[in-house]
Amino acid sequence: MSLTSNDPRSRLPATIDPIDLGERGARLSGVLPLKAMPRLAQVCLNEAGEARVDLTFDRSEGHEVYTMRGAIDATVRVTCQRCLEPMELRFHAQPELMFVRPLAGAASLAEDAEVIEVDKPLALSELIEDELLLAMPMIPMHEFEACPAREHGAVKRGTTNPFAALKQRKPTER
Ligand SMILES: [Zn+2]
Repeated sequence: MSLTSNDPRSRLPATIDPIDLGERGARLSGVLPLKAMPRLAQVCLNEAGEARVDLTFDRSEGHEVYTMRGAIDATVRVTCQRCLEPMELRFHAQPELMFVRPLAGAASLAEDAEVIEVDKPLALSELIEDELLLAMPMIPMHEFEACPAREHGAVKRGTTNPFAALKQRKPTER
């Protein structure tokens, strides 16, 4: 079952060879549905979500090291941890990954940096999913002004005199 090719908006391949893409200086952009990322979907309210993906592949100068950089913008449904109501969460990831062929003489590099050895095609959705899981806020919440919880008394602290802060600052402003 192909997870991405049925979506007419998406031109993302199911698997990639980042080294081949890097040799060609390729760019991949498209939409990956949340359905294609089961681990991420598991922490969301439903599978109605997606990630807009824009990735650039390159070869680093003088080395057998290949890079993938880009931007991923995800929109998913989660539970607001302040009011416990459903909300739309938008978040962003900026992946920067390095790849080498096994036995490419980059063993020392692989030890001190996060370099991925590529000996078979990589599942693109898994790479994207990993980046999104890292970038996702641990405690998603509505913007304060938009959160229903602020009407249940959480706001009372905000009724202190707004000039109090100004008074405190005055002496240091000279
Ligand atoms: Zn909320």
